[in-house]
Amino acid sequence: MSDSVKRVYAFGNDANGKNVTEGNTDMKAILGGKGANLAEMANIGLPVPPGFTITCQTCMEYANAGNVWPEGALDTIAEYRADLEERMGKKIGDAKDPLLVSVRSGAPMSMPGMMDTVLNLGLNDESINGLIAQTENPRFAWDSYRRFIQMFSNVVMGLDGDLFENAIIAMKNDRGVSSDTDLVAEDLQELVDVFKGIFSQNVSAEDYPTLVVDGTVQFPQDPMIQLQLAIEAVFGSWNNPRAVLYRKKNKIADDLGTAVNVQSMVFGNKGNTSATGVAFTRNPANGEKEFYGDYLVNAQGEDVVAGIRNTSPIAELKNVDGLEEAGKQLEDIFVILENHFRDMCDIEFTIEQGKLWMLQTRAGKRTAAAALHIAIQMVEEGLIDKREAVMRVEPEQLDQLLHPQFDKNAKYDVVARGLNASPGAAVGEAMFSAADVVAAKEAGRKCVLVRWETNPDDLAGMIAAEGILTSHGGKTSHAAVIARGMGVPCVCGVEALKIDAEKKEAQIAGSDLVIREGDLISLDGTTGIVVLGAVDLVKPELTGDLDTILEWADEFRRLGVRANADNPEDAKLSREFGAQGIGLCRTEHMFLGDRKQIIQTYILNDDELNRERAAEQLYEVQVGDFYEMLKAMDGLPMIVRLLDPPLHEFLDNPRELEVEIARLEAGGASASDLAEKRELLEKIDGFVEQNPMLGMRGVRLGIMYPQLPELQIRAIASAMAKLKKEGLDPKPEIMIPLVSTVNELSLMRGKAEGVIAEVAQEAGVELEIPIGTMIELPRAALTADEIATKADFFSFGTNDLTQTTFGFSRDDVEGEFIPTYLSEHLLPVNPFATVDEGGVAKLVGMGVELGHEGNPDIVCGVCGEHGGDPDSIHTFNRIGVDYVSCSPYRVPVARLAAAQASIKED
Ligand code: ADP
Ligand code: MG
Ligand code: MG
Repeated sequence: MSDSVKRVYAFGNDANGKNVTEGNTDMKAILGGKGANLAEMANIGLPVPPGFTITCQTCMEYANAGNVWPEGALDTIAEYRADLEERMGKKIGDAKDPLLVSVRSGAPMSMPGMMDTVLNLGLNDESINGLIAQTENPRFAWDSYRRFIQMFSNVVMGLDGDLFENAIIAMKNDRGVSSDTDLVAEDLQELVDVFKGIFSQNVSAEDYPTLVVDGTVQFPQDPMIQLQLAIEAVFGSWNNPRAVLYRKKNKIADDLGTAVNVQSMVFGNKGNTSATGVAFTRNPANGEKEFYGDYLVNAQGEDVVAGIRNTSPIAELKNVDGLEEAGKQLEDIFVILENHFRDMCDIEFTIEQGKLWMLQTRAGKRTAAAALHIAIQMVEEGLIDKREAVMRVEPEQLDQLLHPQFDKNAKYDVVARGLNASPGAAVGEAMFSAADVVAAKEAGRKCVLVRWETNPDDLAGMIAAEGILTSHGGKTSHAAVIARGMGVPCVCGVEALKIDAEKKEAQIAGSDLVIREGDLISLDGTTGIVVLGAVDLVKPELTGDLDTILEWADEFRRLGVRANADNPEDAKLSREFGAQGIGLCRTEHMFLGDRKQIIQTYILNDDELNRERAAEQLYEVQVGDFYEMLKAMDGLPMIVRLLDPPLHEFLDNPRELEVEIARLEAGGASASDLAEKRELLEKIDGFVEQNPMLGMRGVRLGIMYPQLPELQIRAIASAMAKLKKEGLDPKPEIMIPLVSTVNELSLMRGKAEGVIAEVAQEAGVELEIPIGTMIELPRAALTADEIATKADFFSFGTNDLTQTTFGFSRDDVEGEFIPTYLSEHLLPVNPFATVDEGGVAKLVGMGVELGHEGNPDIVCGVCGEHGGDPDSIHTFNRIGVDYVSCSPYRVPVARLAAAQASIKED
């Protein structure tokens, strides 16, 4: 029975050179990124080895059915295989002129190196003769066969790659040669037998009954069985642990599946006019317009990425004897691809005896600096417009540019140099395995992962590391590509580094220096240098490119962006980053440090006079605080939130006090000293609450201790008056936290207006200070129409609103069960990181709407941490919030995300 859904799509030419491609670049959800772009390249006339693509949906159906093929799918695949054989004029497994294929994974989203690929499929004891006859090159043919058995065993059957590597080493020792290339055809033929033996010994007959011949497991000779097992393995690789981890880290859905591309092989290892390589159409590290990449002569597939041999820069290709034509054609294709995709492209190619073949292309991964530079250049080149340029940069990626760098004034000795593979500087303890980095990170330590070269199994360690250092591999090696994608600083190919991973140490060649596990090292991925010890790091300044893109972003965005800041340095910084005001100035932070003593006296002292004096002192320091802050924010609005946390947060920890008393007792302290401490403990105990976050805090505190908000309001008004007299334009706004009824706000507003009027009269200046509230309790959102009658503005405190809407105590649940909720899909995202669309955002939307009913002029902002989260920003833009407020370093991210939200909604 034939299938009703289309599961397989052809790409490339037929026997007459006619393009018979069925897909195109817009079909990534069906064909995966690789399949869709192989089709697209064939459609625009580029040389693509013919093949066919099995859809992602088939993968998911197969996986969801417990690894059972949908009915008819295998028949369809057989039809397309036969068609491919006809197009190529060769048959898989043929003893005279065999067709060989690769079986390549390719998901809708690029997941570099995460899933599996098998090359040279179709070789067996018969077709090897055909390959020898066709190529007249027995060495090449036997090398292909042994590679195939090795790859098939490793990727499809899951055997340990070392089994085969060790056999190669043993063979080399036996022959007395040092390099793989010194092994001759007969050696490789013998290796094929050894490899088959390893296969038989290590594959379980129980798991693979179809592979049992005469009672023992045999390497499959039937190309159809090879093909089916390989396709199943690629399907299975969608759910291998490293792919699952990569998706989680990159927020890629688990139900997309991977496509499988079955493609005729071309050979980069047929001698000195053959080569293979990877390239970018521009520099992915800094965005410069230059061809970037590496190639290897006489090599196949993975050899470049694996960093096994030293590669040559792509720009030299067209100067190599026998490769001139292909090298020039490749550079032409770079231009064709850029003009077609209107983006920087990442390319895999192979040259077989002088003929160029394109094996892959996609939008290239790039650093934030490169993303900005390329987007701006492409606007100048007329390839894209500003709107598209703004959409091209990932807001989260901007974080990279705000990464630390070596302090220019720091003195240090460079002990080794490598390639500057991923920018930014890192300092940490040297660790020689991914597992060690993960363990150290869990213990709160910062590490640099030091490896010969990384591979996909190192992913967890690469995520946990501050920086990555490798001794091998070029700028397109695994370590470099992954590090750039994650924004982790990376220096690779440091040849002077002689790593002994077993001993967990690395020697620096030409010196007696040794880096041992736990030693502090520093690296700078912008320049490619390695330093022993810790170098001081500093935050970088915004580059011109970032400024340009953010200015463009500002042309498109509707949402305002303010910053959460409570000291003048942060206020200045946020202004530099483009904040349009302060959305939240928390005053409790102003009561820490040496000021804690003052507020403790105020809370705990029974003596009225002492309390008055403490209040006076608090007032004085607050005037100074607000004066400096308002000065820094001159001309821009600044929302000051009155004291919010439970009072006990300013007091000593009663448990520590108990310990101190016990110690004093044991040490024979005087009775009066002890009595004093005990009295203090009793008082502090009096402030302890069962649920402090739901207790005496926010506006409730102001109602119970009216003197506190009063002195704060007076300080704000006085600072404002002072600045006005100096000719400045201070714009404070007063925010009452944790209101749940309009009556609370009404009471506080009345008092505030009274105080402000008094100060204005005393100072003889006019003081206009808007008064508003935080909406952070469900009742406040539900009665926003009433509350708005007493408010000039609302600021949605989405941290607390998330806690109170879910009934989640953030400090408890984030560690305890949110991870389980996420892995069990009980929640789509951590609601403390990205605002909960269905619940919390609905309350915000309701608050905005009701708020406008109560006060048509009300200004609505968001000041929770969600204000700096791109996904949440899209939601807030949609529900009519006026601005978001976030930490200073997130301001650039928010400006860009807000622009993208507006452009998307258009
Ligand atoms: P990945 O997604 O990990 O890059 P690929 O499917 O692109 O995996 O394949 C891995 C390597 O094998 C690449 O270097 C690619 O160029 C090479 N390769 C894949 N298919 C072919 C083919 N048909 N002929 C020659 N080389 C191939
Ligand atoms: Mg590839
Ligand atoms: Mg709050």
